[in-house]
Amino acid sequence: MDYVIIADEYEKIEATTKRLEMTDLLVGLLKNTSVNVISKVVYLTQGKLYPDFMGVEMGIAEKLAIKALARASGQRESEIQSDLQKSGDIGETSGKFLAKRKQSTFFTKKLTVEHVYETLDKMAKTSGSGAVESKMALLAGLLSDASPKEAKWIIRTVTGNLRLGIADMTMLDALAIAYGGGKEARELIERAYNISSDLGRVASEVAEKGLDGIKKFQVMVFEPIRPMLAERLASPEEILEKLGGKCVAEYKYDGERVQAHKKDGKVVLFSRRLENISDQYPDAVELIKEKIAAKEAILEAECVAIDLETGDMRPFQELMHRRRKYGVEAAMEQYPISLFTFEALYVDGKDLTLEPFPQRRKALEKIVKESDRIKPAIQKLVKNPKELEDFFEEAIEKGCEGLMCKSVGKDSVYQAGSRGWLWIKYKRDYKSEMTDTVDLVVVGAFHGRGKRVGTYGALLLATYNDEADTFETVTKCGTGFTDKDLKTLHETLQKHVIPRKNSRVQSTLEADVWFEPNLVLEILGAEITLSPIHTCAMDSIRKGSGLAIRFPRFTGKYRTDKSPEDATTSKEIVEMYRGQLKKISEPPQAQKSDTLN
Ligand code: ATP
Repeated sequence: MDYVIIADEYEKIEATTKRLEMTDLLVGLLKNTSVNVISKVVYLTQGKLYPDFMGVEMGIAEKLAIKALARASGQRESEIQSDLQKSGDIGETSGKFLAKRKQSTFFTKKLTVEHVYETLDKMAKTSGSGAVESKMALLAGLLSDASPKEAKWIIRTVTGNLRLGIADMTMLDALAIAYGGGKEARELIERAYNISSDLGRVASEVAEKGLDGIKKFQVMVFEPIRPMLAERLASPEEILEKLGGKCVAEYKYDGERVQAHKKDGKVVLFSRRLENISDQYPDAVELIKEKIAAKEAILEAECVAIDLETGDMRPFQELMHRRRKYGVEAAMEQYPISLFTFEALYVDGKDLTLEPFPQRRKALEKIVKESDRIKPAIQKLVKNPKELEDFFEEAIEKGCEGLMCKSVGKDSVYQAGSRGWLWIKYKRDYKSEMTDTVDLVVVGAFHGRGKRVGTYGALLLATYNDEADTFETVTKCGTGFTDKDLKTLHETLQKHVIPRKNSRVQSTLEADVWFEPNLVLEILGAEITLSPIHTCAMDSIRKGSGLAIRFPRFTGKYRTDKSPEDATTSKEIVEMYRGQLKKISEPPQAQKSDTLN
């Protein structure tokens, strides 16, 4: 397949602002792609070479790209650099400089998608001494054969600036239309994605075998399953009502979610974001190897810091010391962990994701060889609010965050990749005057004054609107940051600065600096109010008003385990706002009993 076909399509996609049009263009591209190359086209169109969980990064720095461009175009690096400063877009600059080439060097070789992909793959996998020079030579070679338009897209791809804005869900829609017979096929195709996290594999399967292939799609060890997530409610009564009068309540451990894959003596651990975190937790890897009595398994556990002397659970913050590349052994000694398993998704050839929860739990209990370092989550079948409340208090006393209340109905399947009412979380914070913490995306910042000159004074934070796929501002937060936080934030956010507001960010406020939505912070607020300036859930409570979080404070938790799309949604803020109103409108307990006496 000629690379120019996808470059042309990218041009058109970039030019449109309408989502439907974008999907149509993508459908056209996918239909024009043959089965043997479709996975590559799908990865490239999202600026990748492999699914995210493989952890292969293109990682070409702008400086290196400029060097390659200079070599391919025969122009000076300094000229390219100064043009780039004006254009702000390395893709445009590349096209322009390659167009200046002498005619004789034009199109020595027609670029195919396969060749571009293989070259980028080679570049990504080149390491060790001399890697920088080799990568540069490979890129320069590619650019020499490229037309200006092709060069623009190649450069954007390798520097991570593709910016086509094609989210997973748009790709799934396009696949459904192109190969599944219409949008109705989206659900089936999405499930295949949810249990494999690999859009390339899904695309190949549906393009080659149609929906029949997708129906037979199976989980595979070492391909992470997208996690099932919980809704939240504020009282045992509401929870039981929602779950049909009874549920299994489980301790909600406060650690890091881990999805463990085991096969042929090899173990891989994936984080909630499906990154491979096996190197961080050699102790957890050993536990899975030794204490899981199955040849092949996929299971989920919460990895919690513990005190080896007492067996007590330690706060989440201690586990943060385990998030490191170097000094892992020492950290392992100092901050030991335990695993509390809560899901069995696949055991020895059997996909359990569509089995009801009680069956999955049985399978789990069968394979976990319990010890003081690994055990199934403590649980209890509860049938009334008092039982639930008592169990909740017990969980809190043991150092947990609260309870996960799980449906035991016939339909209690593992809802990979979605947040639903089969799991409902019940946490301590709901009980105090304060609202629960929320996880917000940093989309902008305001310069600091006084002591904070040179760093940011406040951050503009947003929720995720999962229907519109946008980020909506909900608060401006300048509290709770230590001096070290301010320095770290300033450095980290530099990488994400963009010249103007990202098109997925909805804001009426003008920030001093705008960022690509990337970093997620945990924030504790005092209350949620209607707001004329913030765009979160705009018009959903009252026309012309959004919702805002008042008195926000950074809790110290950088939610690096969450992608911006995993942030608290605008819908959740609406639910929290309604829950809060309900509490206010109910007469306080003390007054109730006063009148009774
Ligand atoms: P979410 O994962 O729902 O977006 P979050 O990361 O902020 O939100 P919480 O809202 O606190 O986390 O709750 C969900 C998390 O609780 C799970 O992702 C999992 O890591 C953890 N957890 C602890 N114990 C359990 C359990 N018994 N069953 C399921 N999840 C549990």
